[in-house]
Amino acid sequence: MTAAMLTPRGRGAVASIRLFGDCLLLDRGDRPLFRAASAKPLADHALGRVLFGRWGQEPAEEVVVCRRDEATVEIHCHGGEAAPRRILADLERAGCRIIAWHDLEAAAGGTFAAECTRALTRATTLRTADLLLEQCSGTLRAALEALRGDARGDGNLIEARARVDAILAWADFGRHLADHWKVVILGRPNAGKSSLLNALAGFDRAIVFDQPGTTRDLVTVETALDGWPVRLIDTAGIRGTECLLESQGIALARTEAVSADCRLIVLDASQPPQPEDHELVAAWPESLIIAHKSDLPSAWDKRLPEGALAVSSLTRHGIDELIAAIARRLVPIVPAPGTAIPVTERQVELLQRARQALADDSWAAFDSALGELV
Ligand code: GDP
Repeated sequence: MTAAMLTPRGRGAVASIRLFGDCLLLDRGDRPLFRAASAKPLADHALGRVLFGRWGQEPAEEVVVCRRDEATVEIHCHGGEAAPRRILADLERAGCRIIAWHDLEAAAGGTFAAECTRALTRATTLRTADLLLEQCSGTLRAALEALRGDARGDGNLIEARARVDAILAWADFGRHLADHWKVVILGRPNAGKSSLLNALAGFDRAIVFDQPGTTRDLVTVETALDGWPVRLIDTAGIRGTECLLESQGIALARTEAVSADCRLIVLDASQPPQPEDHELVAAWPESLIIAHKSDLPSAWDKRLPEGALAVSSLTRHGIDELIAAIARRLVPIVPAPGTAIPVTERQVELLQRARQALADDSWAAFDSALGELV
């Protein structure tokens, strides 16, 4: 028998505990741990019935208990520290092993279910939580089970390969549902990078200062753009410098730029172009280019790179368009409902192994990889 706290520690209106194993443990003894208000033992109530009652010795805790299935009971009590601590201690004394919630998930539903739920708990926006919830609720499992069915029947190798490829096409997207996309802001000192970070984040996180070289370290902020979780990274202004501290900041900026999912190059359009501006654009050709300070007269005229977006962090002109452009870069295609998406590194690796097995014409290896996966 195992039990785990489902809710995080600390203040809260309600705390939830799940028990997995012999649920009738709560009915045992002269003084059962749980006494339903109806005075009937838990065993006499139908599965799924929500019961109000009291827990433990007097003064007892008020609890709501539900037997979810033959092997699972949920106990909901007052939030905070004392009530759940007491219930867990009673369960432990009654022979229950207290474990972490994700270990309980794995014990009850297997690795696949546990890792999907774990990814869901890391979602930071409603949009990503919605997509993860859909995978947790069976979309991914159904797609994988269907593929396994093919492996056992008279499946078509080419068709199976296409279906695995279709799932793997979402691998990078799936990884980001529980983790941020990384957006790096590059540009010369004073181009307005910190101001742009603040404008995109919707609040002041970075210091704005009219002396070049202010941002020697990276300033990061986590926000959501069009419902996608994004970590914005403001870098040291890139320019030739003698200053050791500043050149370290510039080196850090370059490292971040390499691993970014999207790069924004901020050009100060109110100042004539400088060689560093052209170098940046040439170095990162896939970037979104921002003609910044659009509230001021432009000093670039026709020399602005094609597709540059006119933005002012001061007046917020162009900010919404920029957010939409970043979101399109990060997620060019939004998956239709019902799309199977792998959501963990383990799932992607096993799908890749399954894909390789198909390339090797081995249904057995394919079935074994998918078996391990679900
Ligand atoms: P960074 O060094 O690239 O991070 O640049 P900052 O964000 O610190 O801004 C440098 C200077 O440009 C500051 O004086 C800002 O007030 C100014 N600035 C930033 N964005 C704008 C803008 O959109 N319009 C105007 N007119 N000034 C801006």
